[in-house]
Amino acid sequence: MEQLLHFINGAYVPSVDGRTFHNVNPATGEVIGQVAEGGREDINKAVAAAKAAFKTWGKTTPAERSAILNRIADIIESRVDELALDETRDTGKPLSLSKSLDIPRAAYNFRFFADFVKGLGTECYEMEGVALNYALRRPVGVAGLISPWNLPLLLLTWKVAPALAAGDTCVIKPAELTPTTATKLAAICKEAGLPDGVLNVVHGFGPDAAGSFLTEHPDVSLISLTGETTTGKAVMKAASGGLKRLSFELGGKNPNIIFADADLDDAIETTIRSSFSNQGEVCLCGSRIYVERPLYDTFVAKFADRASQLVVGDPMDAATNVGALISEEHLHRVEGFVSRAAAQGARILLGGKRPDHMAKGYYLEPTIIVDVDDSCEIVQQEVFGPVVTIQPFDSVDEVIARANDTHYGLSATLWTTNLKKAHLVAGQLEAGIIWVNTWFLRDLRTPFGGMKESGIGREGGVHSFEFYSELKNVCVKL
Ligand code: NAD
Repeated sequence: MEQLLHFINGAYVPSVDGRTFHNVNPATGEVIGQVAEGGREDINKAVAAAKAAFKTWGKTTPAERSAILNRIADIIESRVDELALDETRDTGKPLSLSKSLDIPRAAYNFRFFADFVKGLGTECYEMEGVALNYALRRPVGVAGLISPWNLPLLLLTWKVAPALAAGDTCVIKPAELTPTTATKLAAICKEAGLPDGVLNVVHGFGPDAAGSFLTEHPDVSLISLTGETTTGKAVMKAASGGLKRLSFELGGKNPNIIFADADLDDAIETTIRSSFSNQGEVCLCGSRIYVERPLYDTFVAKFADRASQLVVGDPMDAATNVGALISEEHLHRVEGFVSRAAAQGARILLGGKRPDHMAKGYYLEPTIIVDVDDSCEIVQQEVFGPVVTIQPFDSVDEVIARANDTHYGLSATLWTTNLKKAHLVAGQLEAGIIWVNTWFLRDLRTPFGGMKESGIGREGGVHSFEFYSELKNVCVKL
C-alpha cells in the first residue's frame, strides 16, 4: 500500500507523532494508501524550513525562478499519464479528464507564471519638476497554501506557481481526500532544481489540525485558500491574529441564463458540460439554469435527453463521462439535498439515484430538478455534485434579480445571440467571472475570483502578483 509522507526541507518525512490516515479510492471504496497526518509540530518544522529558505530564495532573480518553473512544467508534462492516474485514483474523476485537463493545466500554470514574471513591470509617477515615484516589487515571505479536492493539482499549482515566481516560499496543506499529486509535486520541484525548504507539504485535516495550525502560525505571512465559504470564514478568524494577507476562492451557486434567442445546440452541449463535468464538482459549474419561457419546454426535453445519454461509470473506462463523487460522506450529502428538494415539492426529472450497475464506489446519476421555487434549499445552497435545477423566466430584469439573489457571486453564464443584451446583462450580474455563449474558457491573465461570499481578492496574471508580492513606493525629490 502506498505511503504518502510530508515533504519538509527537501526530504520526505513521517509525522512527528507517527499518526496516519487512510487514502480511499472513491471509485471502489478501497483504501489505497496511508497518509502522514500532520499536527502542530509538523507545521512548525515546515514553516521553519520555509522561513529559512526565504532568506536566499527571496533574493533570486525572476529569470532564475522562471527557469526552475519551466523545468517543473517540463517534468509534469513528461509524467502526464502517471499523474493523471494518481489524480483519478484519488478523486474518482474520469481518467480522460485528468489527462486532458487536470495535469496539462497544472504544467501550464507553471509555464504561464514562469513567462509572466519575466515581463512584469511596476508603476512610475512623475511629479513634474518635483519628484519621481516608482514602485519596487518584493516577495512577501512564507505563503500558506490550502487547496481543495476537486481539481487537486490544477488548483494547487494555481497557487504554488505564482508564489514561487514572486519569490515567496511555501507550506502546502493539500486536501486530505486527495494527497497523492501534491506529494509527488514536491519531488518534481526538487528534481527541477528548487532549493530545499522553498516548497514544503504537510498533510492532514483542516479544523484544529494541520490546516488551522498553518493559518495561525505567526511566521506565515499570507494564506491562499480554495475551499468552502464556511472554511473561508474560519480561516479569516484564525489569520486575523497575525493580520495575514488573504486570498480566498470559495463556493458558488452559479446561474446559467439561457435566452430564447440562444443558439440552442451550442447552449445544450455546453450546459451539459457546465452541469456535469467532473461530476458537477467544479466551483464554476452552473447549477441554477434559468430558461426564457418560450424556449423552456424545448430546452428541458433536449437537455434531459442529452443528460440521459451520459455514461456514469468506472473512471478508468474511456467511455465514462461521469465518475464517482469524492467520498461516501459527500455522496450522502448530495443525496440529502435531492431528497429534501423532492420533499419540498420539486420534481426529479432525471437521476437522483445511484446507478444500478455500479455496486461499489460513490456514484450518482446526473440529476435534473424542475418545478422548484427560488426559496428551495436546492436553489440557494451549493450542492457540489451532478445536480442542476431548471426554472423558467419571463423578463431580463426578473432573471437578473433572481440570478443575483444569493450570497454567492463566483461565476455566471449567459446565452443569447443579441449582442446588446449580452453586454447589458453581463454588466448587472453579481459574479466575478461571466461567460457569454461559452463556459470554462480561461485566459490566465484575466482576474479570477468571486464576489460576495464566493471569495476575497483576485488571482491570475498581474492579480496573482499583487497578492504574492509587496509593492513599495520610492519617492525621489528632484
Ligand atoms: P473545504 O473547505 O472543506 O476544504 C478545503 C481545504 O481547506 C482543505 O485542504 C481542508 O483541509 C482545509 N480546511 C478545512 N477547514 C479548515 C480550517 N478551519 N482551517 C484551515 N484549513 C481548513 O473544501 P473542499 O470540500 O475541499 O472543496 C470544495 C469547496 O471548494 C466547494 O465549496 C467549492 O465551491 C470550493 N471551490 C472553490 C473554487 C474557486 O475557485 N472559487 C475552486 C474549487 C473549489
